[in-house]
Amino acid sequence: MNIFDLVGNTPLVELKKISSELAGVSIWAKAEFRNLSGSVKDRAARAMLLEGIATGQLRPGKTIIDASSGNTGIAYAVLGAVLGYPVTIYLPANASRERKTILACCGATVVETSPLESSDGAYLAAKTEAEAHPEKYFWPNQYNNDANWKAHYNTTGVEIWEQTGGKVTHFITGMGTSGTFMGTSRRLKEYNKNIEVVAVQPDSPFHGIEGTKHMDSTLRPGFYDEKFPDRFVTANTEAAYEMTRRLAREEGLFVGVSSGANVQAALDLGRTLPSGSLIVTMLCDSGFRYLSDEFWCVPDEVAGDGEGI
Ligand code: PMP
Repeated sequence: MNIFDLVGNTPLVELKKISSELAGVSIWAKAEFRNLSGSVKDRAARAMLLEGIATGQLRPGKTIIDASSGNTGIAYAVLGAVLGYPVTIYLPANASRERKTILACCGATVVETSPLESSDGAYLAAKTEAEAHPEKYFWPNQYNNDANWKAHYNTTGVEIWEQTGGKVTHFITGMGTSGTFMGTSRRLKEYNKNIEVVAVQPDSPFHGIEGTKHMDSTLRPGFYDEKFPDRFVTANTEAAYEMTRRLAREEGLFVGVSSGANVQAALDLGRTLPSGSLIVTMLCDSGFRYLSDEFWCVPDEVAGDGEGI
């Protein structure tokens, strides 16, 4: 098997216990942590790098450079290693320790930017460096590269349609670059325009749902079309933490916080839907990427000295 084939074709799992709270509505989720580097961003990274090679922009001697909250960077690092390109990632200094360690383990160079400027600060710093040395870098620019959303149009959307046998009625997911939402939704609407597509956003600019963006207060990704979602819903960080813990303890799914936010939003949506509805959402990455976070322990469960895991 070609190592690039370990990206995509992820299982679609039914969240049986969580769905049992609903009246005849089922929630299913794409296990994106099963991708090669462990997150949904492998799909976009693979597409952007292969397009770079096909157009001659990524060629021997170049370094891959981009800004990332972590997962895209890890995907570039892993795929860059396979393809033989060095990788430099700009990321906010407050990205989790796990993400920085994985990047270092995969041989990527990490440039930390101000946590106060969040993903925008990392984006602007990577842009400045890439534009100053075009001969040195290949800058996929994940926020403005159509290969990002098209990766989901060509893979995620097709898989969801096939795996549900065309029975999907709702697709709901959070947005970072919005590539997952835009590409998957576009494909699903082509199959059946009645499929409702729902975008999830953090309820405040200061939130803990790593990898997702509060669009109103941050730089807009170039391909994000705010008129595309049929509806917007908000995600609360504490509720996302709680659902992330439930997924591990009840469904056996040890996943990250944006996955918890997605499933909580899917559950809230499911309460408003008629029997027979089938909601699909995304489990974007694994809980291992958040191991040092405190939220795994609910306060009255913390033993001894009050330290987290
Ligand atoms: N969840 C996590 C954990 C992520 O890292 C990302 C990507 N930043 C997303 C969700 C959103 O994915 P997309 O960029 O396709 O909108």
